[in-house]
Amino acid sequence: MAEREWFDKDYYKVLGITSSATDKEITRAYRKLAKQHHPDTNPGSEERFKEISVAYDVLGDADKRKEYDEVRRLGPAAAGFAGPSGPGTGNFNFQGGDLGDLGDLFGGLFGNRRPRAQRGADLETALHLSFRDAVMGITTAVNLPSNEACKTCHGRGAAPGGYVTCEYCNGRGVTNDDQGPFAMSSVCTHCGGRGGRIITPCPSCQGSGREPSSRRVNVRVPAGVVDGQRIRLKAKGSPGTQGGHPGDLFVDVHVAPDAHFERRGRHITTTVAVPLTAAILGTTVDVPTLDDPVTLKIAAGTQPGTTLRVRGRGVPASAKHAPGDLLVSVSVEIPKKLNKEQRSLVEKLAAALHEEIS
Ligand SMILES: [Zn+2]
Ligand SMILES: [Zn+2]
Repeated sequence: MAEREWFDKDYYKVLGITSSATDKEITRAYRKLAKQHHPDTNPGSEERFKEISVAYDVLGDADKRKEYDEVRRLGPAAAGFAGPSGPGTGNFNFQGGDLGDLGDLFGGLFGNRRPRAQRGADLETALHLSFRDAVMGITTAVNLPSNEACKTCHGRGAAPGGYVTCEYCNGRGVTNDDQGPFAMSSVCTHCGGRGGRIITPCPSCQGSGREPSSRRVNVRVPAGVVDGQRIRLKAKGSPGTQGGHPGDLFVDVHVAPDAHFERRGRHITTTVAVPLTAAILGTTVDVPTLDDPVTLKIAAGTQPGTTLRVRGRGVPASAKHAPGDLLVSVSVEIPKKLNKEQRSLVEKLAAALHEEIS
């Protein structure tokens, strides 16, 4: 039975050492045995290799070893370990649980025939930027739900000794059908191909196998990103398993609209309103930019919709691009209401300009 497998097994004996062995001696014994019995060079030795791996998994970890020694000395109940039906089991369901690539972790450990090194998954996250930060560029951080393996259980999701190997497939995740001339193997229906199940979830990660804390990743946002753009951060995704490369992180950029500015490629556009008389007679106006305001000369007779260009006040220059400009569109304010005197003056102006007013 599950519990017997753990409590009754003498891991020291499995590794051929005494219970007073030092960490170094344990590791040395494990390395030697693992090499001797590795299934890749030694077909048919899966069982023995698995046994060695499991023993080292516990004895090679100071905390687990302590716990193991204690349970063996006092018995499981006294050491606070509930059996499969006890409260420690919770409603954890290994088969239905969302354990991601934990199965692969176990698969690798137990000599399953899956590829050993697996690239980590690509991750996606959203980044919300102000208009200004998108134009100027910024280095900021995004928080990601952790994909690091839990340090307590090394990503297995099980408390020490809380994992049992599937007795139907002996941890291989597949069962062989040796009838007929061709040996067929199919996914083990008992464990769903996981090779085993967790009977006591890891107390740190509640069985997820992932670090409970989140992870901060720095993102260098280049100047001039636009809404909807994707930034790819190589190797910042999920870590690979069994020495596989990490995946990539894709950051989807969202840029908030600005009350005063818009983008046109690497240029920034804005509008400045000048009074009618100022457009006729000429003036100067202060125009806000993303840095300090600039003073612009509005020539006499400037037409509504005229665009004035302020060089170099758009997206800053980069290795590939020249700096963008600030494009200022001039709007002219027409008075909405005139009193009698004003009306009479405008009529005089019209007459002087030979304009028809009916
Ligand atoms: Zn854990
Ligand atoms: Zn199985």
